[in-house]
Amino acid sequence: MLVKSDLYFKNRGYGVSDIRSIYSDFIDLSDKYGLTNEDVFDAIMDASYKDIGIIIPEFVKKRRRNSQPRPYFWDRTQTKTMNGKVVPLDTATRFMKFGPAIDLTRASTTQKEILEYELTPRKAFRDLDESKNKRRLKNGAFRGIGWWDPKRKKHKLLPFEVPVEGEEFYKRFADEMVFKNLRSDALIEVPSISRYMKKDYTVIMRVLPVTEGKYYHEWLMTDVIDGCEGRFFSSGSGKKYENGEFIDIYKYASPEDAYCRHSWGALLAAEEKSRIKPGALTFRVSYPRTKEEYRESWKTLNLKTIVRLHNGRERRPNKTEARIQLGRNMGFLGADGSFDLSE
Ligand SMILES: [Zn+2]
Repeated sequence: MLVKSDLYFKNRGYGVSDIRSIYSDFIDLSDKYGLTNEDVFDAIMDASYKDIGIIIPEFVKKRRRNSQPRPYFWDRTQTKTMNGKVVPLDTATRFMKFGPAIDLTRASTTQKEILEYELTPRKAFRDLDESKNKRRLKNGAFRGIGWWDPKRKKHKLLPFEVPVEGEEFYKRFADEMVFKNLRSDALIEVPSISRYMKKDYTVIMRVLPVTEGKYYHEWLMTDVIDGCEGRFFSSGSGKKYENGEFIDIYKYASPEDAYCRHSWGALLAAEEKSRIKPGALTFRVSYPRTKEEYRESWKTLNLKTIVRLHNGRERRPNKTEARIQLGRNMGFLGADGSFDLSE
């Protein structure tokens, strides 16, 4: 591996100067007129597996003279309407909370429809390779893969980087996870990888896909309660400035459960454990596992990529930008090229 493995989780202090000191060769896309999503994807795959970094512009130069450059990662004029309130998706934080997801099921999808279709996570992911979904992933800007709990109508989100980071979390800490209970619910003690302390905490999972005839919709209903810092902030309040005051927009949004790397890692661990632990109820579905090219594209984006701003300054991509690009990578690689979806 060309990338230091401890940077996987602890790359907060890692900056442009570190990237420049590790790599001397860069694929520099910052001066390319009319840069496309495919150009960026190709450059990421070219730089992957090699000692090469990549430079992506924050704004793309237009081919026509005098036309305004456009932001590469997402369109800042997009809005989202929630209960009649229009929220602009003009900042990375707002896009992270309210931007679109590529959904596997709709809010209106019923339990009956899911049962008839015999939907499993791997089948649902394979549906992402339908040409319409692929086109949306390649051309659009999304936060992750989403689905709806068909009973409680709650939105679930699997951000694009979470399958990669969750598997790594699971790989490193599986031995330290303690399964206190694993039947139709689970209670698991997992180690924290916080910067400040090493402390175990509890992950609770409700409704696991273990019931004959019902697992097709049970996996869509799984609630994971995980007390980590990242998850607390990702579900926190979004603020909006309106008529001279800040208003709390999250209060008006429909609540959403987003998987973080710990909860996804713990879910994969629970799946494995359910097959071997005496007394456990066996999972009847298998969650998709990432393929190497997708993981490599994560590494290139998170550890070897520099974003060049308008004024020539440089920074690492923020979480929102890396997430959006990873979704595009998935579009170009295909869900089947990004995940093991065999059943
Ligand atoms: Zn977490």
